[in-house]
Amino acid sequence: EETPVMRVVNQVFNDFKMIHPEFTFTLDSDVHSNPIVQIYRNHLEQVLIILLDNAVKYSTKRKEIHISAAEDMHNVQIAIQDFGEGISEEDVKKVFNRFYRVDKARSRDKGGNGLGLSIAQRLVEGYHGQISLESSVGYGSIFRITLPIDQHETDKHSEDEETNVIE
Ligand code: ATP
Repeated sequence: EETPVMRVVNQVFNDFKMIHPEFTFTLDSDVHSNPIVQIYRNHLEQVLIILLDNAVKYSTKRKEIHISAAEDMHNVQIAIQDFGEGISEEDVKKVFNRFYRVDKARSRDKGGNGLGLSIAQRLVEGYHGQISLESSVGYGSIFRITLPIDQHETDKHSEDEETNVIE
């Protein structure tokens, strides 16, 4: 399926702003074209929701979440940054594993089962993208997603009068 990435990013961003008014969400986009990626819209939504849900769940003090989007010749990058509890270097290597949770006692009350990130990773990699994590305990986390642009579809639609008409 051909999905206009920024339309989905904007929509999920607006949903989260509405659902979590106690948080400050910002969206910073350097994407000025209308890049199309080959991913089911629902799958892209799901990945963004997993990352944003986590950002909310693991930010107990500073309730700020920053989303940024950029593109180069071949890829779109979306980054989701929080200023929450962060993840240690050792755990960064493991959080994408199925059922892995950093501190079982601490995160039990947050109601997860440790599947979210493994699902996000499988979805992104299934579409030839990448997902990475940079984090520091006490400072917060940045998850980055890279998805390849479908150049052919992007060129085809770049002549549309409205840049984001396709669904
Ligand atoms: P769910 O399956 O409902 O998503 P979960 O949040 O426990 O539950 P994952 O999304 O796979 O599962 O995350 C794995 C673990 O990584 C979490 O338990 C949490 O300890 C840690 N983690 C994930 N995102 C963040 C984040 N933004 N900040 C701090 N820790 C995080």
